[in-house]
Amino acid sequence: MARKRIYLSSPTTHGEEQAFVKEAFDTNWVAPLGPHVNALEKEIAEYTGCGHAAALSAGTAAIHLALKLLDVKRDDVVFVSDLTFSATCNPIVYENGTPVFIDAEPDTWNMSPAALTRAYEKYPNPKAVIVVHLYGTPAKLDEIMAICEAHGTPLVEDAAESLSSTYKGRHTGTFGRYGIYSFNGNKIITTSGGGMLVSADEEATKRATFLATQARDPARHYQHSQIGYNYRMSNITAAIGRGQLLHLEEHKAAKKAIYEQYRSAFADISQITMNPMNPEGDANNWLSCMTIAGDCNVTPDMVMDALEQEINAESRPIWKPMHLQPVFEKYDFIPHNADGSSVDEEIFDRGLCLPSDIKNTPEDMELIIRTVRACFGR
Ligand SMILES: *Cc1c(COP(=O)(O)O)cnc(C)c1O
Repeated sequence: MARKRIYLSSPTTHGEEQAFVKEAFDTNWVAPLGPHVNALEKEIAEYTGCGHAAALSAGTAAIHLALKLLDVKRDDVVFVSDLTFSATCNPIVYENGTPVFIDAEPDTWNMSPAALTRAYEKYPNPKAVIVVHLYGTPAKLDEIMAICEAHGTPLVEDAAESLSSTYKGRHTGTFGRYGIYSFNGNKIITTSGGGMLVSADEEATKRATFLATQARDPARHYQHSQIGYNYRMSNITAAIGRGQLLHLEEHKAAKKAIYEQYRSAFADISQITMNPMNPEGDANNWLSCMTIAGDCNVTPDMVMDALEQEINAESRPIWKPMHLQPVFEKYDFIPHNADGSSVDEEIFDRGLCLPSDIKNTPEDMELIIRTVRACFGR
């Protein structure tokens, strides 16, 4: 019999989700609005301290609306983290803007302040900066915010992967003009699919909600003075999210325990380095990742194949940098190193994401660790 699948990061539900969904059905709020939507916004605002929140159909929709609120238009330059998932930068292109990809630094794998500084020499007037907190590790926010402030550029935080991570005690997503969260199925909590735009600016989040509900003018007849979107979260998905939010801190603790277990299990193998933490922050460890030293003949592919074939465990390469994507090849890339070499290409070449599912049993973790160690002859 085939061994059961060990997942990278799959939904973990608890029961309250279904109770909230039942309530939505019982009250017939089966619609892209309703009391659970409003309640989830309030609860996320309270939990993160973000001020105000607009619940949307996806994290990608939240990024898109953040760019709309910042009036990103044709040919506007937007500086964006290069080491990320394509959803971070696709919305720039939806608006015919020009992404300029900023390399990662080695300390947190997030946007390099050095590369960001250099980007301004080439493009003095970007419309926005989008920083990602990759795999849940907070970026170097003090440095990045200081650079943005010096140039008067608004910052958008893509905190899709970092809900519950903090930097200097404050939640990621609450530092920029706008922050976004994702509740996709593999994130730390899920609504089955959904996202949120957050901001200290109440007017802006109201405007996001207006744009997300087809931009209908306040008139009795259906009147529109602007192009709108159908981006609102449904009451059913919000119900799931409310149940999940009750367990967010528990999920975070479980993710941290997985990271710590890998870190100590591989501590004696000098060729393995775990993904770095930001000492100024407290990460949610959404995905635990490792890199393999460049002079080692074990490759990430070999480790992924061993996990897949020997124990039916799902792992994943590091996000392929955006500047290496065929669809973005015409856009500029600003490397971290002064000699023009890229940090994130190296992370991509030498790294992988380990199974980080919080339903992993102690036996699953043992198997994974044993399989990885065996790749290194240990
Ligand atoms: C998941 C993810 C998104 C997109 O969120 P969706 O809710 O799936 O649209 C954006 N950015 C990053 C970095 C992500 O990991």
